[in-house]
Amino acid sequence: MNIPMLDLSEQYQALKEEMLVALDQVMSSSRFILGDNVKKLEADVAEYSHVAHGIGCGNGSDAIHIALQAAGVGSGDEVITTAFTFFATGGSIVRAGATPVYVDIDPVTFNIDPAKIEESITDKTKAIIPVHLYGQTADMEEICKIAAKHNLVVIGDAAQAIGAKHHGKTVAEYGTAATYSFFPTKNLGAYGDAGMIVTNNDEVAENCRVIRVHGSKPKYYHHVLGYNSRLDELQAAVLNVKFPHLNKWSKLRREKAAVYTHLLNEQLGDLVKTPVEKEGNYHVFHQYTIRVEKRDELQAFLKEQGVQTMIYYPLPLHIQPVFKDLGYKEGDLPETEKAAKEAVSLPMFPELKQEQQEYIVAKIKEFYKK
Ligand SMILES: *Cc1c(COP(=O)(O)O)cnc(C)c1O
Repeated sequence: MNIPMLDLSEQYQALKEEMLVALDQVMSSSRFILGDNVKKLEADVAEYSHVAHGIGCGNGSDAIHIALQAAGVGSGDEVITTAFTFFATGGSIVRAGATPVYVDIDPVTFNIDPAKIEESITDKTKAIIPVHLYGQTADMEEICKIAAKHNLVVIGDAAQAIGAKHHGKTVAEYGTAATYSFFPTKNLGAYGDAGMIVTNNDEVAENCRVIRVHGSKPKYYHHVLGYNSRLDELQAAVLNVKFPHLNKWSKLRREKAAVYTHLLNEQLGDLVKTPVEKEGNYHVFHQYTIRVEKRDELQAFLKEQGVQTMIYYPLPLHIQPVFKDLGYKEGDLPETEKAAKEAVSLPMFPELKQEQQEYIVAKIKEFYKK
């Protein structure tokens, strides 16, 4: 068997006819930037997120950068976040002119540990960026309590978590704003790069709209420094075709996750730590990530057996070479560093078959029982 991490071909075949019509409509209209498709997607995603505004932009990394700038975070400010995330979380903080301050994670959820946030707050702290890693929300109740006490902006990096819930609320209902990525591999993926900021804050929303078009307002007059970061009509048309299926896909992901967890617990017991959905959370399983010993050997063995796996993420941000001037060293964030050595993500997509999952678990068992 050959099982990839993600296979988008079946999804495309199912949507092909509708997709080609939607793309043809854009090309026939000759309207390619910020037209009706973007407006519709922004309105639909905002409604889905239970907030007033959706602002499409070039990608999920820009969404974080734009949201920070729109909320007044920049030069001289410190932004508290997690180091166990994709590079863009930290990179966007630096691009916005601010300094990332990395806080350790809760080893159970892989998300920022709220109990460790307050000790990192200084008089320069301006914002917190929790990341909802793998599709499970961070502890937003606690994080927003801390933010309110210290008057901090909260921008949720929800690149992996569109559709996730925390105590019945969406990721956008907590904090100042949340950001989505529509990178092709995300739960709602475009056929190229795209992203969005969602917020209930009218002023932040208006700032985002201005920043994504070079800071131009009125047209050709610039009071703030913006850049070119727009979601284009072709990508919005793709996303409009896919969006109505998102909840069904999230459900299927949860079903696949339950199958993995059942099989792994039954056949491997303590040898594999399966993902934990914290009480009150609705996890959308962007990734199904387990923790194991001999992780790299397991990955190599599975590769030989035709099973692709991925390490998200092998080197935490606080010890990335590009951030060496921040002064962190190995040992500063023990739970983060431990997770980076033990975590491995298994193939996960809505069309994954039960036989494929059985094969993967059988091979993991073969590896540990050898
Ligand atoms: C994908 C991702 C991003 C960046 O999104 P792009 O659209 O690729 O720029 C940011 N943060 C996290 C956690 C991500 O997974």
